[in-house]
Amino acid sequence: MQRRKSTEVRVGHVVIGAGNPIIVQSMTNTDTRNVKETLKQITRLAEAGCQIVRVAVPDQGAAAALKTICGQSRLPVIADIHFDYKLALEAVENGVQGLRINPGNIGEKWKIREVIKAVQEKGLPIRIGVNAGSLEKDLLESHGGPTAVGLVESALRHVRILEEEGYDHLKISLKASSVPLMLDAYRQIAGLVPYSLHLGVTEAGTVRSGVVKSAVGIGTLLAEGIGDTIRVSLTGDPAAEIPIALDILQVLGLRDKGTELISCPTCGRTQVNIERMAEQVEEKLSKLPPLKKKLSVAVMGCIVNGPGEAREADIGIAGGKGSGLLFQKGEIIARLPEKELLPALFARIDEFVKDYSQK
Ligand code: SF4
Repeated sequence: MQRRKSTEVRVGHVVIGAGNPIIVQSMTNTDTRNVKETLKQITRLAEAGCQIVRVAVPDQGAAAALKTICGQSRLPVIADIHFDYKLALEAVENGVQGLRINPGNIGEKWKIREVIKAVQEKGLPIRIGVNAGSLEKDLLESHGGPTAVGLVESALRHVRILEEEGYDHLKISLKASSVPLMLDAYRQIAGLVPYSLHLGVTEAGTVRSGVVKSAVGIGTLLAEGIGDTIRVSLTGDPAAEIPIALDILQVLGLRDKGTELISCPTCGRTQVNIERMAEQVEEKLSKLPPLKKKLSVAVMGCIVNGPGEAREADIGIAGGKGSGLLFQKGEIIARLPEKELLPALFARIDEFVKDYSQK
C-alpha cells in the first residue's frame, strides 16, 4: 500500500506521520476534574492498546487537574480545548503533550501568539480539528450547509493562521458523522497540505453503527494510503473503541502484531457447532497478552475444505462428525476427537504466545 507522504508529528514518545505505523488514539469520557477516574480510564485504554489519549478541558478545574493526570498517565495526553487561550496555556504548563485547538476560534492575534509560543517552547504539536457540526457560520451559508469544500476551507483558515506565525508542527482532522462527507473532505485536504491527518467519523453512534461507519470511513481512507492516526468513536466506554481500531488496521495489513480470527461462515457441510467454537476462540484471543508478531487462528467447519480455505492461518481447527483436524499453515498436524479439538488448539496458541509475547 502506497501511503501519502506526510510531515512527522511527535506527541510525547509517539511519532505520527512520515510513514510511521498508524497510531491509535481515543478520548476519555470522565470528568477531567475527577483525576482518579480519568487516570483509571487512561490505564484501561493503554491496556487495550491505545497509544495517545485526549482529555476534554472545558474549564480551569480541568486544566488544573492535568498536572496530576499528565504526571501519572501511561499515555501521552492531549488537551482538547475550545476558544480559551488561558486554558491552553495552563494545559501546556501542566504537562500535556499536545493541544487540540482551532486557532481561528481563539480570538485576537496576541492570544494565538501566546499559545504558539508556549507550544513551541516545549516542542508540542497542535491538532486542528474541524467538525461538520460546528463549521463556521459564514462557511455554512456560503456552501449551503456542511460540505467537504467547507470543511477543507475551514481547516485551511486555521492552518494559515499558524503558518503565518511560523508554526507548522500540526495535524488535521475533518470529521463528520456522514461517511461520504468525511471521505470527500479528507481526500481533498490530503492533496492540499503536507500535514499528518487524524482520521475519524464523529458522532458515529453506538456499537453497530459506530463500528460500520468507522470501519468504512477510516478503512476506506487508509486503504487509499491516507491517514496517520485514527480514532474510532463509539457512544459509551472509550476502551471499547480500541479493539475496533486495531482490527481496522489488522484487516488492512497495517498492523503486524496482535491476533486475527478467521472463521468460516458455515454451510451445509458443517457438522459441529462452529459458531460456539469460534466464540470460545475469540474469547481466548481477547485475553492474550500483547504479541509482538501477528497470530492468525482459524476455526473452520469441515475437514475437506477447512485447512485449505484457511491456508494463511498460523494455526487452526476444522470440525467433522465426531472428530476434527488440527492444522498449521494449511498442513494437517493431528486428527482428534471433537472434544479434544479446542484444548489442543488452545495449547498450541499458548505455545505461540510464549514465542510472540512482548514480556
Ligand atoms: Fe462450508 Fe467447510 Fe467452507 Fe466452512 S470450511 S464454509 S463448512 S466448506
